[in-house]
Amino acid sequence: MSRKYKILGLLGDGIAGEIIAEGIKVLKATEEKYGLDLEILGPYPIGAKYWVDHDLKRGWPEELNKDLILEADTIFKGPTGLPDLVGKLPGGYTPINLRTELDLYANIRPCRLRPGVASVLTGRKTGDIDYIILRENTEQMYVNIGGLMKRGGETELAIDNYVQTKKGCERIIRYGFKLARSGEYKGRPGAPLDGKRRLTCACKWGLTKGDDLFKETYDQQAAENSDIERDATWIDSWSYYAIMKPSFYDIVVMPNQYGDIMSDMSGALQGSLGLAGSINAGDTYCFAEATHGSAPDIAGRGISNPTSMILSMGMMLNWLGDKRGDQKLKLAWRGIDSAVDAVLAKGRVRTPDLRGTNSTKEFGSSVSEAVLKSEQ
Ligand code: NAD
Repeated sequence: MSRKYKILGLLGDGIAGEIIAEGIKVLKATEEKYGLDLEILGPYPIGAKYWVDHDLKRGWPEELNKDLILEADTIFKGPTGLPDLVGKLPGGYTPINLRTELDLYANIRPCRLRPGVASVLTGRKTGDIDYIILRENTEQMYVNIGGLMKRGGETELAIDNYVQTKKGCERIIRYGFKLARSGEYKGRPGAPLDGKRRLTCACKWGLTKGDDLFKETYDQQAAENSDIERDATWIDSWSYYAIMKPSFYDIVVMPNQYGDIMSDMSGALQGSLGLAGSINAGDTYCFAEATHGSAPDIAGRGISNPTSMILSMGMMLNWLGDKRGDQKLKLAWRGIDSAVDAVLAKGRVRTPDLRGTNSTKEFGSSVSEAVLKSEQ
C-alpha cells in the first residue's frame, strides 16, 4: 500500500498557471509510474492578480488558511508578482509568508548544463556545468525591518537592514556541507572539473560585518568537515569565476540577496531561466518554486518553458522522500530529472526560449510520456 501525501498547490501570476498545469501532468505520470498516491489540494489562486481581481481587498479562498498550509506534506507555488503592481499592494502574495513563517532557510538552486542545450559559454558541453547555489533564505537584505521617513508627504529617507545571525549562518553552511557530501539534486556528486566534493563560500567578508560572520562560521565548520574541499571567494569575484571556470564549482553557499542575483545569472549559464528549478527547504516544511518570476513578457501565449516548475516539483518529491523515508518519492525525482534530460537530448520538442517552436503543453506532455518510459 502506498502512503498518501497531501500536496498543496498555489498558483500565482503571469505564466504560473501554464507551467503549473504541466507540472501537475508530470506529477500524475509519476503516480502511475512509481505507484505514488498524491492528493493535490487546489491549486489555489494567489499573487498580485488575485488582489486586483478582488478589488484589492483581502479575502483568500476560505479553505486556504494557515492550517491547510501547515497540514500539507509539501507545497508547490507559482511565481508571484507583476511589475506594474510591485510595492502597490496592501498585503502579501500569499496568506502567510512561506519562507519566514515556515522557516525555509535553504533555497536550493541547481545549475546544470543539460543534454541538447547549447551553452551560452563557448566550448562548454553537457555536464561541464553542474553546481548548486545554496542561498540563505531568511536573513540579510530581505528581513524587512527597515522603513521610510516621510516629511510633508515626501519620502526623505529609506532604511534597509542587513541582518545576519549566528544561527542563520551556522545552519545554512551546515546544510552546504551535507549537500556536498550527499550529491543530492546534482547530475553527479562533486565538481565536473575534478569530481571533488567542494563547498565554496561566496560573500563579501572584510566589507560587511554580516559577511564577516558568514565567512568566520564557514571557516569554523570547514575545519570540522575536512572530507569536503574548502574554497572561499568574494562574491564579486565569484560572479567572474562562475563564467570563466564553472566546472570548478560543486556547491556554492551564499547570503540571501547574493543568491537571488547569482541564481538568475546561473539560469543563463543553464541556457534559459525556464530550466531553473528550485526548492525552499527547512527542517519541517518545503515548497517547490521555479527560480524565475512571472515572465509577463511571454504570459498568456502558451510558450513558456515548464521545465523549471517540473524540476522544482521533482526536487520537492525528493525532499519529501528524505523527510518521510520513502524511497519511491526519491526514485520519482530521479525519474523526472532523467525524463527532462531525455526530452531535451532528443531535441524534437522544445520551447522558444531554447530556439524551438513547441508550446508549453507539448513540452509538458513529452516529459510526462518520458517519465512513463523512464528506466529509473
Ligand atoms: P522573470 O524571471 O519573470 O523574467 C526574466 C526573463 O526570463 C523574461 O524574459 C522571461 O520571459 C524569461 N523567463 C522566465 N521564466 C521563463 C520560462 N519558464 N520560460 C521561458 N522564459 C522564461 O523576471 P522579471 O520580468 O524581472 O519579473 C517579473 C515579475 O516576477 C516581477 O513582478 C517580479 O517581482 C516577479 N518575481 C517573482 C518571483 C517569485 O515569485 N519567486 C521571482 C522573481 C521575480
